[in-house]
Amino acid sequence: RDYETLVELDKKHFLHPTSPIKQQQEDGPAFIFTEGNGIYLKDIHGQELIDGLSSLWNVNIGHGRKELGQVAAEQMSKLAFSSTFATFSHEPAIELAAKIAEITPGDLNTVFFTSGGSESNDTAFKLVRHYWKLKGQPEKKKIVSRRKSYHGVAMGATSATGLQPFRDFTTSLAPDFYYVESTPESFRAFIEAEGAETIAAYISEPIQGTGGVIMPPKDYFKEIKSICEENNILFIADEVITGFGRTGTYFGVEQFGIVPDIMSVAKGITSGYAALGGVIISEKIHQDLIDLSDGLFMHGYTYSGHPTACAVALKNIEIIENEGLIDNSKAMGEKMLEGFKRIQDKHEIVGEVRGLGLMGAIEIVEDKETGERFAEPLAPSIVAESLKRGLIHRGVIYEGADTLIFAPPLNINEEEVEKMIQIIDEAITAAKSNVK
Ligand code: PLP
Repeated sequence: RDYETLVELDKKHFLHPTSPIKQQQEDGPAFIFTEGNGIYLKDIHGQELIDGLSSLWNVNIGHGRKELGQVAAEQMSKLAFSSTFATFSHEPAIELAAKIAEITPGDLNTVFFTSGGSESNDTAFKLVRHYWKLKGQPEKKKIVSRRKSYHGVAMGATSATGLQPFRDFTTSLAPDFYYVESTPESFRAFIEAEGAETIAAYISEPIQGTGGVIMPPKDYFKEIKSICEENNILFIADEVITGFGRTGTYFGVEQFGIVPDIMSVAKGITSGYAALGGVIISEKIHQDLIDLSDGLFMHGYTYSGHPTACAVALKNIEIIENEGLIDNSKAMGEKMLEGFKRIQDKHEIVGEVRGLGLMGAIEIVEDKETGERFAEPLAPSIVAESLKRGLIHRGVIYEGADTLIFAPPLNINEEEVEKMIQIIDEAITAAKSNVK
């Protein structure tokens, strides 16, 4: 079909996720992408753009990897689907579960598969409540998350999400979800007020992504982990963004020297080439679930362990390892941060810059000294100026932020990092000159 027809059909029939619905109706899609190659996406008019957020923080190995298409085609023609319910199994799910047990830290050794991050977190929430029920403590059911956290859009995941705009989308959230400030004191005060015997688990992203690439305070997780241990509260690490090399180690928790009881993964597990997520549990939890079982494990998705998605994940992980993409994430992350620092030195309106691996942020401020923000956030116009120059990234403006965030594919090279930095520099200059 021609471009105009596609735009009309899109406006009429396609309700876009997380989108400005009115503007979408008026303008139609800004880009209709047709191809991807490395860090680049190409649209229907042939325009190439750098995918500076790895699409949705997920295309870790970059676009256009034909090997994944081949593996998917082979698996689909051999066994496109079979159930993993009850005692049925298949090779891709077994091999992937074993591989994940090998690469995740500590005694995280058993995987429950889902189709994405929201399902992973909802599974984790149900699982921890089920666990405490089996242990004779059915009242231990509250889930504690952090302000500015993002855990997805399923009902449990939304209820655990600290970012207000996502919570406001619906009028009624699931019960027994609470969030605290990002300090150990806030968590301790919550436990004191509510009673540890009512709290099932604490969940956190190692680095908050959607909230604006927010780093935890130093030693925060070590303290939180020991508070959890003291109070018999399970620690769930939401590694949906930070997993599979994003921060320069395999998993984000490795940066902070802790091993969670449960880990949620998705996104980078397949680099977006198929829909897959997982919840990885410790040996202890697994053994308790077996020993205390009260019958069937009554939780499973049709696509838990989809064979094609699992085969794609295995190949994706092989590529991450064979091409040294975790080390590259660390090295190129350092280059990206150096570039951010040059931008910070040059521009009056750039405040803090930060990054870990290929996950980074630039704060826009009106006053560098005090960190005071512009009355009208500048991030949206900077993002628009970047787009004009061929770079896709995101601006965060909710909850008082004015922040540019970046997470390019892990196979980016030095020259491409430099190109990104140059565009960001020009975009900030252009957006600033529009204001004054
Ligand atoms: N958890 C985190 C930390 C995320 O960033 C996301 C998605 O961005 C999710 C969970 C939800 O994952 P999904 O969109 O695959 O359901």
